[in-house]
Formats: sequence, structure tokens, C-alpha cells
Amino acid sequence: MSVAFIQDAVVMMFNFEESRLKDEIKKQGAKRVLIQLPEGLKADGPRLAVVVEEAGALAIVSSDPCYGACDLAFHDAESLGVDLVVHYGHSRMIPQGRIPTMYIEARAKINVNTAIMKAIPLLNHWKTVGLVTTVQHIQTLDTAKGLLHDQGKRAVIGRAGGRVKYDGQVIGCDYSSARAISGDVDGFLFIGGGKLHALGTALATAKPVVVADPFEKNAYSLNIEVQKLLKQRWASIFEARKAEKFGVLIGLKSGQKRVKEAIEIKEKLEKNGKKVTLLALREVTSEALMQFPNIDAFTNTTCPCVALYDTSFFLKPVLTLNETLVLLGAMSWEELYKKGLIIR
Ligand code: SF4
Repeated sequence: MSVAFIQDAVVMMFNFEESRLKDEIKKQGAKRVLIQLPEGLKADGPRLAVVVEEAGALAIVSSDPCYGACDLAFHDAESLGVDLVVHYGHSRMIPQGRIPTMYIEARAKINVNTAIMKAIPLLNHWKTVGLVTTVQHIQTLDTAKGLLHDQGKRAVIGRAGGRVKYDGQVIGCDYSSARAISGDVDGFLFIGGGKLHALGTALATAKPVVVADPFEKNAYSLNIEVQKLLKQRWASIFEARKAEKFGVLIGLKSGQKRVKEAIEIKEKLEKNGKKVTLLALREVTSEALMQFPNIDAFTNTTCPCVALYDTSFFLKPVLTLNETLVLLGAMSWEELYKKGLIIR
């Protein structure tokens, strides 16, 4: 499959709202625009730069990684003299900042019905199903609810809260819409591609999750992978118990900075006889952590998705805040898992 074909397919699948983009540039009188795109949409940067320049502004495409709405490139925009940031692929999380910011959610234009119908047999004997999705498919939740109703199921959509904007929406660090209804449902149907948010829903609710993937037109249960992931998390906590020296990671991205939590967990670790260094960084990578060979384990206060879903990337244990509390005996593993507290 050619790169051009893949790029055409992405353009057809997502709504980049080019007209609204041009209108906003004109309305703001923007002369220099920074375009931020998540990894899967970055290839559209050059095409969108042309759209921006047609509207009369100079376009600069941010090539740095961007994984979420927490990661607005304000510092880069300031140093580049930008007067409008256009952030693609996420809903608004951070209130309007120093530089005007336009969010374009890049809603998916594909039909979800086939994937949902394939998911129905996997919903077992569930009478009540919780519906969750990412912002790309949020417009499909009412259709999904209707399809489930036609199959004799009651579908429930949790209210938006925390860092998410829409009812039923989940992001990697916020499952409040799922948690709000987890006591009322037998399991969750996640609509969307990839496994990260579906696994996160399972970890945050301790309920079974079935995925309806509209890109693959497929559906599958996540039970086995959730069990495997829980075993990996337990193994990481167990391994970190031997650690004497800890690094506590503080994110430098605008919506990932949790200095207070980092200092609190440092103090708790120190009370338990551990030596602790606070480490600030923009990207948590294995290479970055390998620069500190004397540190035995890490507690991560940046994006909780880091290290949670692929332990194998890291040579040393990288725990979430609450996993560190389990290590210290301040929380039990059962409480962590049954109350869906791993992601914090
Ligand atoms: S902290 Fe992580 S999961 Fe949350 S918005 Fe940022 S990148 Fe996404």
C-alpha cells in the first residue's frame, strides 16, 4: 500500500474542518500559525500547512510528539512568534492560554454499525451495557445506544467529568465517565480503534470490556489481555519492592505537571527508607531513564499511559502513583484493582 494511498484514506476518514480553520485564521487576523497533530495524523501536516497559507498566514507544523490535549505547545509557539495554535485530534482540556488556541477534534467519518453488530454476541448475558469512546467517535454513541436497545440491551452513557468534555468520552488519564456508571452496568462496550483506551476502561472500572473497532469492522473481548496486563503490573510492583533508589518523574508538558503529587510520593518513599531523586522531563522514554543507571525503580507522575501498557519498553519498573502506595503498604492490591485505582 503506498504512502499516498494511506494519506488519502486518513483524509477521507477524519474531518479536518479546513473551512473552520480558514475562518478562524481570518477572524483572529493570525499571521503565524503553529499546527499540532497527534502521531496518527501528522502526515497531514504539509497539506494543512497549505490550507493555512491559503488563509493568509505562515504555517509551521510541530514535529514533536503530541499524545494528548494536555500537551499544548505554548512554549514553542512563543519562541516561534506564533499568534494562533491549532491543536488537532483532542477535545479542549486546558482553558484558553497565553496564545489563542483552536481545537479541531478530527471526528472520524466512518460508520460504526458493523463493528457494533459484531460486538453484540460478545456482550454475553449483559443486560446493561456502558458505552464509552474517544472524541473521534463521540457522535456515534446515540446510534450505538439505539442498536443495543434493538437487541434487548439497556445502554448507559456516563456524564462527562474531570478532564473530558463529552458524556461517554474517555481519555488515557480520565475515565470518569465510565467510573460514574460502573456500578450500574454489567460491562462496557468501547467504540474505537486501538486497545489503550479499552484497556484503560477495564483498569479504571474492573469491569469486562468488549471493543467494537470501526476501522477494522471487528469486535473482540479484552478479558485475556486485561488479565495479562494485571499480572505485568503486579510483577512491576513486586520487582520495585527490592529497589533502594527511586526516581520520581515530573512531566514538563503543560497538562502533565504534578509537582505536588511528586513531592508527596517522594516524602512517603523517603519515610520508608528509600533514596529519591525528582526527575523532570518532557518525554518518558527508556533512553531517558537509562541515563540514571543508579536508580532502581521509578514512580511516574506524568501521563499515566507511559509504561502502564507496555512494560517491556523499560528496563526498570515504572509504577503509577497508586502502585507505589501498594509497594509501600499504604494500599492493598485488591483495593487498587477492585476500585479501579491503578491509573493515577
Ligand atoms: S496525560 Fe496522557 S492520557 Fe492524559 S491527555 Fe495527556 S497524553 Fe492523554
